[in-house]
Amino acid sequence: MKYTANSLENHWMPFTSNRDFKESPRLIVKGEGVYFTDHKGGQVIDGSSGLFCCPLGHGRKDVAEAVYEQLLENHYASPFMTSTPGAFELAQKVARITPDPINHIFFVNSGSESIDTALKMAMAYHRARGEGQRTRFVSRERAYHGVNIGGVSLSGMVKNRETFSGVMPNVVCMRHTWNPDELFVRGQPESGAELANDLQRFCETYGGSTIAAVFVEPIAGSTGVLVPPKGYLERLRTICDEHGILLVFDEVICGFGRTGSAFASQSFGVTPDIMTLAKALTNGSQPMGAVAVKDEIYETICNAAPENAIEFFHGYTYSGHPAACAAGIAVQNAYENENLFERAADLSEYFLDGLFSLQDMDCIKDIRGYGMLGAVELKAKGNPGALGTQIQKNLFWNGMHVKFTGDTGCVAPPFISEKSHIDEMIDKLRQTFEAI
Ligand code: PLP
Repeated sequence: MKYTANSLENHWMPFTSNRDFKESPRLIVKGEGVYFTDHKGGQVIDGSSGLFCCPLGHGRKDVAEAVYEQLLENHYASPFMTSTPGAFELAQKVARITPDPINHIFFVNSGSESIDTALKMAMAYHRARGEGQRTRFVSRERAYHGVNIGGVSLSGMVKNRETFSGVMPNVVCMRHTWNPDELFVRGQPESGAELANDLQRFCETYGGSTIAAVFVEPIAGSTGVLVPPKGYLERLRTICDEHGILLVFDEVICGFGRTGSAFASQSFGVTPDIMTLAKALTNGSQPMGAVAVKDEIYETICNAAPENAIEFFHGYTYSGHPAACAAGIAVQNAYENENLFERAADLSEYFLDGLFSLQDMDCIKDIRGYGMLGAVELKAKGNPGALGTQIQKNLFWNGMHVKFTGDTGCVAPPFISEKSHIDEMIDKLRQTFEAI
């Protein structure tokens, strides 16, 4: 591959301090296994699976070949009123690992689109049941549900929404579940289940029959890995059932093995009505997301429409794109054939041991983790996030990629990591933090 651009100016980078980056760029030019190579030739271990997308690591030939072969065979066909075989095959593969009775899969192109799609499905479902008065949605402080208008409306992160005030009305946020009095908790905190009663209070304040759906990340990921307290998700499920409210788990980060089961829903033993998926669906090799729904939701929406009529007026030009489906199928085969969800569960204890071994460092405020997902929150210095931004850069030049949100580094190694890779990640974190 030959690139000829001699300026960094034209590309407006997402979620990046553009001016700072362009002064001192960090370009990734290659990925293989758990390592990237930067543009200066340095080796960078991938401590966050890209952006939680790449459990298989990088440079998988089987995935690349599947995409290549598909593109030669047929690179595109309309997904409206025609389709391509890969979409059915991938949907079946995903449905086999989602909890029952979640068996219907709608393809989109990103996590953000999966959220918008789930919002519309919830509206369509209630309307089809004659409950179109359910127009209110419940989310949570510190939630991240992507960046489209739907996801921003549900967002509980101030920076992601304060500039964009004209978002969807009728969204209320429950309190988040992080408890400053309970630091360095490994796994699920013992206390905090009662925070789910915020939903009960909304039902009492607004009327449960006006609420369409509750959106939560089972583990709030981007905001810094907030593991749900024991009993919390169960309580949400009960309240939703009592009031006919749909429970949506945003599994964009948790899905596909990150918590040691196929989905966090299975790890925590709570089945939602709708799951939003993306990222590891294709190991990040092609942009793709999905919404997985209970059979009853699919059937209710379909049966409400006249025969031969389109049932759900929604879809994207690239829904179920052939290349993305080919990638997804190859990736799902790899997860299954290489037992990678079990491997994630097995490696988790070693990973969390390593992460929590950093607890003695003065610069650290909190450490949290579950499965192959952990966070190290640093004590802020100056403006919130200033230290985190600097540390993320320092880590990169010390040879490790970590996704930071504010002053919190989110660590999520690829499942193919060896114990020695985990050791390398923990060593690099310690060395970099020591210089603070
Ligand atoms: N939902 C969650 C829980 C996420 O973590 C993300 C992205 O990190 C999204 C939705 C949005 O996904 P995307 O960036 O693919 O639009």
